[in-house]
Amino acid sequence: MRTSWTEWYGQNRRDLPWRETKDPYCIWISEVILQQTRVIQGMDYYLRFVERFPDVCSLAEASEQEVLAMWQGLGYYSRARNLHAAAKQVVAIHGGVFPTTYAEVRALKGIGDYTAAAVCSIAYNLPHAVVDGNVYRVLSRLFAIETPIDSTQGKKEFQKMAQELLDHENAGLHNQALMEFGALVCVPVNPDCQHCIMQHQCRAFELQLVTQLPVKSKKTAVKELFYTYLCIYSGNSILLQARSADNNIWKNMYELPLIEADHLLSSEELLSHSFLKKPGKVTLNPTPVDYTHILSHRKINARFYKIEIPEMESISDSGVVSSLERLSEYPLPRLITRFLDHHFLPFIQISGNKKNW
Ligand code: SF4
Repeated sequence: MRTSWTEWYGQNRRDLPWRETKDPYCIWISEVILQQTRVIQGMDYYLRFVERFPDVCSLAEASEQEVLAMWQGLGYYSRARNLHAAAKQVVAIHGGVFPTTYAEVRALKGIGDYTAAAVCSIAYNLPHAVVDGNVYRVLSRLFAIETPIDSTQGKKEFQKMAQELLDHENAGLHNQALMEFGALVCVPVNPDCQHCIMQHQCRAFELQLVTQLPVKSKKTAVKELFYTYLCIYSGNSILLQARSADNNIWKNMYELPLIEADHLLSSEELLSHSFLKKPGKVTLNPTPVDYTHILSHRKINARFYKIEIPEMESISDSGVVSSLERLSEYPLPRLITRFLDHHFLPFIQISGNKKNW
């Protein structure tokens, strides 16, 4: 079975930039980016990230705002904050040299069992098996295991099995082969079992259980939120607000002024809101833009109003005034850039010229 996976990998693996290196720093960055991001989307981010921060010291020295701005659009921003904090740990504890043992790597901020095993096996060929979503799926089907993969028992069982199957001589290769096999062949929906090299030893195929595996026990509870955003601008300037460090989502990032309520505000409600008393005369575009934005545990119903005011000074203590050209320096959630890119910036005159965004 081991030979089949690695042979298959040699012939079918995708050429990806992080597979060209044994640098633990680059492998770590790629693993963190790919945790909740598809390969095709993550590739550009990876290349830009390692170009701007080519080693752990350059990442440690950057400001959090700059790291978040590089991460903008990838979501799950705690990943970027943890990368930054871990880079500082490597500098403080290991003198800027990426640690070489599993225990030291696992001790870094934001690095769990999976990432520590991936970095150590791929960079140093240490014998630690990875168990990610692909591995859970492949193993549950190959051995027809019905233990829920999100249960404590399931996690133990699959980790133990993956470790027993690991090719200790070629741990990095074996791990990458198994994950790639899950990503390309034994996919969640409609796996190509007819042409699968594992078909003859796959218990799920034999028992016709493929569509039922892997088993999950919990359904994620989704909370619904209602965000009314105020896109307040004057000439070439726009008002932003920083989200506080206490927020559950997008902490320390920037957004447009927000009114959170149990519903989306109408233009009449908005005009009587205290926030709009400050700038005096306001010109409110009464037709808002609505979006639904889905995060892992949140459904955000968002509404954006464009509001032009005569000058920004009267309202500047309510946030940060940015010129439109400097907006890209602020880490903004994807929800905000979607609105700005499609419904605001293309229609705004910048410095007397219509800018083509
Ligand atoms: Fe996955 Fe189907 Fe291959 Fe079994 S036969 S390992 S279910 S692709």
